[in-house]
Amino acid sequence: MHPEIASRLLHTRNLPSPSGAALRMIALAENPEAELAEVAQVLSRDAALAAKIMRIANSPLYGTQRRIDNLRQALTMLGLNAALTLALGFILARSLRSPDAAGSPDMARIWQRAALAATTCRVLATRLRLPQGEELMLAGLLQDLGMLALAHLEPRIYAGVLQEATDDAHLRRLELEHFEADHVEIGIWMARQWSLPDYLVEAIGGSDGRDGAGTFATCVAASALVADIWLRDDPVAARRAAGQMLRERLGLDRGDFAEILAQVSNALPEINALFELERQGADPERVETILEHARELIILRNLNQLQESTRRAQESERLADRARALEEQSRRDPLTGLYNRMRLEEVLRDEFDSAARFGWPLSVAFLDLDDFKLINDRFGHLVGDDVLRAFAAVVMNTLRGSDIVARYGGEEFLLVLPGTATDAASAVLQRLVEIISQTPMAEAEGEIVHITVSAGLATQGGHEQYESVEALLRAADEALYDAKRAGRNRMMRETRPPSPPDA
Ligand code: GH3
Ligand code: MG
Ligand code: MG
Repeated sequence: MHPEIASRLLHTRNLPSPSGAALRMIALAENPEAELAEVAQVLSRDAALAAKIMRIANSPLYGTQRRIDNLRQALTMLGLNAALTLALGFILARSLRSPDAAGSPDMARIWQRAALAATTCRVLATRLRLPQGEELMLAGLLQDLGMLALAHLEPRIYAGVLQEATDDAHLRRLELEHFEADHVEIGIWMARQWSLPDYLVEAIGGSDGRDGAGTFATCVAASALVADIWLRDDPVAARRAAGQMLRERLGLDRGDFAEILAQVSNALPEINALFELERQGADPERVETILEHARELIILRNLNQLQESTRRAQESERLADRARALEEQSRRDPLTGLYNRMRLEEVLRDEFDSAARFGWPLSVAFLDLDDFKLINDRFGHLVGDDVLRAFAAVVMNTLRGSDIVARYGGEEFLLVLPGTATDAASAVLQRLVEIISQTPMAEAEGEIVHITVSAGLATQGGHEQYESVEALLRAADEALYDAKRAGRNRMMRETRPPSPPDA
């Protein structure tokens, strides 16, 4: 920078200079040993500043559930670093304002831009989960520190420059003509004079948003573009430029963009009040249009998310159904739909254990179709299959829901009747044998096919105690053999082993 300008900046009475409070804040910010109590002390000496810290802690930017109503709560919620950074922002903003500057609409516009950029930075930090939310906010606020300084230094001249400038490059050319330095250069110089932290100096120097900058600098540059949506004459072009930068450089999509605009709009009144921007730089109608568009996009995005999650839920429900169906299938006999032998063995073991544990009776019965070979021989296997299916259906309909029917193999079935004593089971089987003999099972070659069945019953917990499932099944199988030998179409109980001779 031209030394003459530097010395003018240094010696002019108008040079914005940080207040004592600001200098203390800067010193505290630089000091890694600083404690919350010290910050509280500086803040409590400045009622206006303390009030601002509390207001921002309660603003939509922080979304606190409970109202914060004293400085201590605010500092605890924000944390030392955030509180310091915010306080510094407010103090510097105050140092940079003059009655003259505040009165001119162009100055109000610069401040509005700074406030918008700061708000956008804070919102971006939250969305991108960056840890330095307040630093980013302060960088957003001060990125055009040079412009704020020039507006402060030469309000009338700079207002003319601002009015004449068509874009940023033109503005910097005009600044060079009038002040022999542009606002970036002046901003960096001032930040150094004020001993502001390095990250702020870098943000001010990098506010033109070059490629390859880090996330922090990119957010700062993007925040200026977002601010332009509210302030530039062509909001459509501004929106496009901001959206493109957020997408390409920060990986944020259209939905994110809409939500960011809505959040900035939402927080803006509070931020404006904090920076004492009474008059809005943007006309209310435009703000409303921005909001409306944002709302639409958010609704669309929510709808899409809803549809997507519904679709995913349906898909996983479908997969779960399929898995359940497959699982069920693996337990069922494909011809009759009854439990298969594998499943039967599981069930039987469980029932056998429960019966032993609780002293319940457990009846099992083998069923074997009589002379089934003859059915096959006479009508063929397909008719035989139909008969097996019909038989299974009749058995299922005759038994209680808690009873279990399984296809043991071929034309042999096993019934499991939990909690059923031998007499009750015997009655069930007799009825079943009778029903089977009377039910037409198929129609073939103009004939109604009838069958009969033989059954052998064994009961655990009646007269006998079987030591294992196998022993129980063996007894039922022997009873079935007895029924066959006795002429078929009947049920028989297990034969009691001869009682041990009296001792
Ligand atoms: P019994 O009264 O002594 O039981 O005589 P049975 O003819 O029923 O006895 P056997 O064990 O000699 O014959 C059983 C027949 O059952 C032979 C076999 O072909 C038939 N079978 C087994 N499984 C199926 C099947 O899935 N479908 C058909 N159609 N027939 C089957
Ligand atoms: Mg048979
Ligand atoms: Mg058989």
